[in-house]
Amino acid sequence: MRKFFRKIGITKPLLIGGIFVIAFFVIAFFIHLVLLPQIELKGGKKIVVEYKEKYSEAGYKANHLGKNLTKEVKVKGKVNTDKLGEYQVTYTVGSGIFKRKVVRTVEVSDTTKPKLKINKDDIYVCPGTKYEIEKVEATDNYDGDLTDKVKGEISKKEDMVTYSVKDSNGNKKSITKKILYEDKEKPVITLTGTETVYICTNDVYKDPGYKAEDNCDKDLTSKVVVEGTVDNSLAGDYKITYKVKDEAGNEGEANRTVKVSSGDVVGTVYLTFDDGPNEGTTNVILDILKEEGVKATFFVTGYGPDELIKREFDEGHTVALHSQTHDYAKIYSSDQAFFNDLQAIHDRVQRITGYDSKFIRFPGGASNTVSRRYSFGIMSRLSKEVLNRGYKYYDWNVSSGDAGNTTDPKQVYRNVVYSLRKDRVNMVLMHDIKPYTRDAIRDIIHYCKENGYQIKKIDNCTTMVTQRVNN
Ligand code: ZN
Repeated sequence: MRKFFRKIGITKPLLIGGIFVIAFFVIAFFIHLVLLPQIELKGGKKIVVEYKEKYSEAGYKANHLGKNLTKEVKVKGKVNTDKLGEYQVTYTVGSGIFKRKVVRTVEVSDTTKPKLKINKDDIYVCPGTKYEIEKVEATDNYDGDLTDKVKGEISKKEDMVTYSVKDSNGNKKSITKKILYEDKEKPVITLTGTETVYICTNDVYKDPGYKAEDNCDKDLTSKVVVEGTVDNSLAGDYKITYKVKDEAGNEGEANRTVKVSSGDVVGTVYLTFDDGPNEGTTNVILDILKEEGVKATFFVTGYGPDELIKREFDEGHTVALHSQTHDYAKIYSSDQAFFNDLQAIHDRVQRITGYDSKFIRFPGGASNTVSRRYSFGIMSRLSKEVLNRGYKYYDWNVSSGDAGNTTDPKQVYRNVVYSLRKDRVNMVLMHDIKPYTRDAIRDIIHYCKENGYQIKKIDNCTTMVTQRVNN
């Protein structure tokens, strides 16, 4: 042994020195183990964080000779997850020769696949046609929009298509879909005009037309079958059904409703109220109409609360136009003055209800002579001009007398019911601002019901009731 050392040139002092050095390291290692604080990293010395996700400390523990030093550990180093790369975080505890330092590497990396904006459903293609690669949108958490990088590949047998995209960090996403050569889509029937058509009895109904198109068969209009008939002599709703089948047997359907309203049926009673609304009378009349299940017509003015006009409309009555000011001297001073006033009350009704009312009643009626004082011949002109402007006007053939010749509800009642006739349309003039009319209305309604009169509100099918023009 000694010979061996001597042979390789290790002398005795060198050997002893060597033993001391080794002993020193053994002791130092022992000191290191026992005397230096220990740091333990939860999650290990290397962790990976996804790009843009929040980095949070995974945790650590430190102790020295059984004493918990975790709270004294100093952590240094920043991790920026907005940038790919490796970051170092150092953990130190203790001081001087008893200082302990541990390093953790945090890797920020992108492992998220791009997203393809396409569902996984099978693709149906019209028989006899070829499937064409579509534009598919793709987005990626790192690269953003990758739509331009999407590749589509159709299989040799043309029964599959695969769309795939790769982001700049090598993450790949692909979706494969089956291609089936079948027509699965229904033909679409598009109706010309509205889905609901309004006509009056005896008007001739003519179908406004339709179009039928199919994704594979194209124009199928000539194959549409129309079912349903309209009996224009009988008021009611009629359903018209349009059906068409494509080559593959898919059936498309559309529907239209034709609403036939009865025009002038003899024996009909139109309860009409002028000069309102008025709190204390109109609201009570509305209550009674509601209780009796009857609809009426209100020729309103610029006076009274908006709420009552709103209520008239909301409860299904016809809101018609009387006058904004009801000032004869003003409205019959000139044609222009009349139309200015009419526009004002029209706009009030439209503002409150949204309804574009075209029904009017001239203050004093079309037959009034009071207008002669202000403009000679004005009623002759106005009664024609209102029609040119799209209005219809309604005078009356039954007067309740509530505008002057009585203040007694019983007399109002008698004036009305004695004038009703079964052989004509009855247009009843009343004023909803009068308490005696308010007090007569329920009995009038009962009389009509008991004697076979049908009560209706004015609508588009109601023919004008007009008196002889006297000015
Ligand atoms: Zn009036």
